[in-house]
Amino acid sequence: MPLESPASWLTRATLRQGTTVLRMVRYLGWMSRDLDQWFADFYADGVPSDVPELRRLQVALRVMKAFKASGLASERLLLFDGRKCRYRYCPRCLATDPSPYFRIHWRFACWLYCPDHSCQMRDTCPACDRFVRLPVSLVTAGPKGSGIAELSECAVCGHALSDSRAAPIGTSLAHDSPQVQMHYANGRAVLAALYHGGFRLSPTGANLPLKSLRTLDREGLIPSRLAEE
Ligand SMILES: [Zn+2]
Ligand SMILES: [Zn+2]
Repeated sequence: MPLESPASWLTRATLRQGTTVLRMVRYLGWMSRDLDQWFADFYADGVPSDVPELRRLQVALRVMKAFKASGLASERLLLFDGRKCRYRYCPRCLATDPSPYFRIHWRFACWLYCPDHSCQMRDTCPACDRFVRLPVSLVTAGPKGSGIAELSECAVCGHALSDSRAAPIGTSLAHDSPQVQMHYANGRAVLAALYHGGFRLSPTGANLPLKSLRTLDREGLIPSRLAEE
């Protein structure tokens, strides 16, 4: 799917094969701990042309390679639950996806709202309050390990993540504060900078290299995982 993260792709591909993530990564020769970061290293020279499905992950590859090149700290900018990789999600995106999937930018701590639906990203399942971790073996997920059919369902309790309340941005005092609005905008701009390989601080400013993002991070201009915890 467009913009899909490697961990999301692996999760869906694993379910389609009716197997577990562990078996699938052994078969593919992949590593599963942080697939999104690992993928960029493993396919640093591009994905092989004889695996057309993987070519659809070009955007994720591009973004994660740029993230590595930027020197931004993964423990600050990427989302983790302990040592496991986790994602935020937009309930409305998952509700309208023909085949629900997780986008690469949903892995980033600085991605705070969905521009397609003008709502805040959600961190946890509305029923069990657990984080969404990927990749996950959907075939053995859910209550009593009976399996989960779609990534739009919580892999822990099976509740529909798409049932979550999608809070519109700018509806409370906290969300109207200038700093929060700046974080919304800057978080989105960071992902755009990673995609385009550089950025400008103003429409007329000079092009800046990705490594300049570290300066903005040191100045507290980029929302990060450690800042929110
Ligand atoms: Zn959305
Ligand atoms: Zn749940």
